[in-house]
Amino acid sequence: MVKITGFKTNDVRFPTSLTGDGTDAMNTDCDYSSAYVTLETDSELRGYGMTFTIGRGNDIVLAAVAEVAGRLLGKDTEELFSDMGATWDYLVADPQLRWIGPEKGVISIATGAVNNAVWDMYARSRKKPLWKLVVDFTPEEIVRSAAWRYISDAITKEEALAMLKEKEAGKKEREENVKKVGYPAYVTSAGWLGYSDEKVARLTREAVEQGFSHFKMKVGANQANDIKRGKIIRSIIDDPQYLPERHKNRSPNDESVRGKNAGPTGAVLMIDANQVWDVQQAIDYVKGLEEIKPWFIEEPTAPDDILGHAAIRRGLKPYGIGVATGEHAHNRMVFKQLLQAEAIDVCQIDSCRLAGVSEVLSVLLMSAKFGIPVCPHAGGVGLCEYVIHLSLIDYIAISGTMERNVLEFVDHLHEHFKTPCSINDNGRYNVPLDPLEGYSIEMYEKSIAEFEFPHGSYWVGAAKK
Ligand SMILES: [Mg+2]
Repeated sequence: MVKITGFKTNDVRFPTSLTGDGTDAMNTDCDYSSAYVTLETDSELRGYGMTFTIGRGNDIVLAAVAEVAGRLLGKDTEELFSDMGATWDYLVADPQLRWIGPEKGVISIATGAVNNAVWDMYARSRKKPLWKLVVDFTPEEIVRSAAWRYISDAITKEEALAMLKEKEAGKKEREENVKKVGYPAYVTSAGWLGYSDEKVARLTREAVEQGFSHFKMKVGANQANDIKRGKIIRSIIDDPQYLPERHKNRSPNDESVRGKNAGPTGAVLMIDANQVWDVQQAIDYVKGLEEIKPWFIEEPTAPDDILGHAAIRRGLKPYGIGVATGEHAHNRMVFKQLLQAEAIDVCQIDSCRLAGVSEVLSVLLMSAKFGIPVCPHAGGVGLCEYVIHLSLIDYIAISGTMERNVLEFVDHLHEHFKTPCSINDNGRYNVPLDPLEGYSIEMYEKSIAEFEFPHGSYWVGAAKK
């Protein structure tokens, strides 16, 4: 019997505010940070997890992580693994901790870090990457692993089971296919608000060269400037001269980009406002961006405003612009209502804003039932490492499709992870295949030693300057 005997937390912060990486209309000064947890056992087995923050407050999250992880001490790992849904229920069920949520804010993202660490440990114990562990489950095991409280008015376990059984037969083929071609990705790195026009143009040309066909830029600080930057990006992604030879045959009629306002080379532009507007203001502002032909506006308003998103979606429909959200949707009930209210065209789960893999599975199942594609949020630090696993689970075992999905990719900070994600030369994520990488989130000790706040070598040096 293997028991959980302890845990360690690390407050790891990267000084990204110095370069303008990650800047958008709401978040102007980000130090991408990881509230990192290691679960320890009385064997060699470890479980690594984290949640993402953008700087100050990372320590507050870690205080909550310690509270949640403490609930696992002394637990038999096989018992936890045998019913991951029950394990998730147990993690959120502490009455005193529940009071400071429930299921939202600091305590919830801390639960995400811990639940992800348990899943990582489970995958490592079976010598499979996380996605493979889950797609090899029976439909019954997948259903048992999800978080079910409060969502039966949108999906029942029986419905989920029937959906999963229907997808059983094609799993093997989809797995082989995605290993070959990779999972479709889009790139955000070119479009941060803090970058100069020259830098935006250069990064966009590089992204086209790398094989990407979907691009996202940040908007919302200044409409004239947004149009100018949008035109710079469009002038590059729509111009066949920049297309690499291997992509010369791309077209706006391709199934993967149809209905996405693709330009003549089959390139798609998305825009992201990071919650800056009121509802009517969002509609008016985004209408004004019609000429740069976005596929969708992401996070136009407050993340909790379900009916507001529905109103924006209705208001923008005549302009052919969709609505996406989810990176700040704090639990499955918010996603349930976004789906029920027909408020979104694209569902953007976050791997550690939701309280871990178990809650993500619930949202994947609901989205599949409602027919809304899941295009997870990534970037930050560690999020790309995480989300490729979730999209693979969605494609292989749940929705059965990736044709129109795109998974966010931001080329920052991957070097700190032992098994970093990677992109092939068609702008698609490679499938993680290392049997010992679990959920791919283990960081190098030396990265932690350098960037741990405030006593890591980088921060000690910065304090002296
Ligand atoms: Mg966003």
